[in-house]
Amino acid sequence: MMSKTNLKSLTFNELQEWIHSTGEKPFRASQIWSWLYQKNIVEFSGMTNIARSFQTHLHDHAFIYSLSPVKTTGSSATRTQKILWQLEDGLHIESVFIPDGHRRTFCISTQAGCAMGCGFCATAAMGFQRNLHVHEMTEQVLSMQRHLGIKPTNLVLMGMGEPFLNYDNVIRALTILNNAEGTAIGHRRITISTCGIVPAIERYTRENHPYKLAISLNATTDETRSSLMPVNRKYPLNTLLRAAEAYTRQSHKRITFEYVMIRNLNDTPEDARRLMRMLRGIPCKVNLIGYNATNPDFTRSDDKRIHAFAEAIAPLSAPVTLRLSKGDDIQAACGQLATKQESATELSPSA
Ligand code: SAH
Repeated sequence: MMSKTNLKSLTFNELQEWIHSTGEKPFRASQIWSWLYQKNIVEFSGMTNIARSFQTHLHDHAFIYSLSPVKTTGSSATRTQKILWQLEDGLHIESVFIPDGHRRTFCISTQAGCAMGCGFCATAAMGFQRNLHVHEMTEQVLSMQRHLGIKPTNLVLMGMGEPFLNYDNVIRALTILNNAEGTAIGHRRITISTCGIVPAIERYTRENHPYKLAISLNATTDETRSSLMPVNRKYPLNTLLRAAEAYTRQSHKRITFEYVMIRNLNDTPEDARRLMRMLRGIPCKVNLIGYNATNPDFTRSDDKRIHAFAEAIAPLSAPVTLRLSKGDDIQAACGQLATKQESATELSPSA
């Protein structure tokens, strides 16, 4: 038997080609696209403007992939919600909904687990399982919309995994989610966050993608950065900063540097001075994130230290934001996403 086409793995152009191959009129592609990504339906029978005969054809030759939440954990303090998904092969991933005033940010995973081994991150401790497929990324957004009953204003690829080690799928997923006739999340409201895979940053720059880019910097010396983030041994700071600078020059966009503040490790006045020197000349924003407990070896910098650090780098004239921890109480804050394999047995897929 021929395997059915997974419609959610197709970009709009590919859907058009697929529709063409069935002998149907091109406008069917727009109709189906709108059902999938605007109306967010998960059954062909819901496509009410499509003739029953073509619905049957679709049913026989294609399918609509969908994800259902296995578990939702909510924080009453911040209204942040963490959603656990089970993939077809039994692996688990998580997404987070972060409301903030009028902003509704969806944070999605790009890999199951992560290979990068950052010492402060809970996902790293799981190890790497696999790259997510395009439809597994887009469905995190669509399914959150269906289950939370809201649409995102912003999308960040800051969940589990390293987006730039799943480059092609990530770009395809964003092409789909950005499409104006579908989910239509504006490119200025989409941020890819990388730990610093330099060749991928260079490729991203060359290909001139419109989404915002963030780099997890987290240290001001190679020694400290390599001890926290093994990726730094392969792509040390000067190489990384050169790639970041080239990106800003080519894209005419600021780049965001995320900086997780860990007490006495990367939060000293010397660190602030070095950071100033490093970032001078790079159009950027700096996002200081209080370290969220995941590893007993590290402690979060106290607020006084974080504010002093922010003040010390103020002359950079880069906007500095402090990320208040959203979802720390439900282990949904930065670096706290981790799923345990054992949980598969506790949870029934239909729950
Ligand atoms: N792999 C990508 C995206 C996932 S991490 C990357 O490295 O950018 C998203 C952000 O969370 C990164 O900036 C990372 O430095 C930060 N982070 C990881 N663990 C954290 C923790 N325990 N507390 C606070 N921030 C953390």
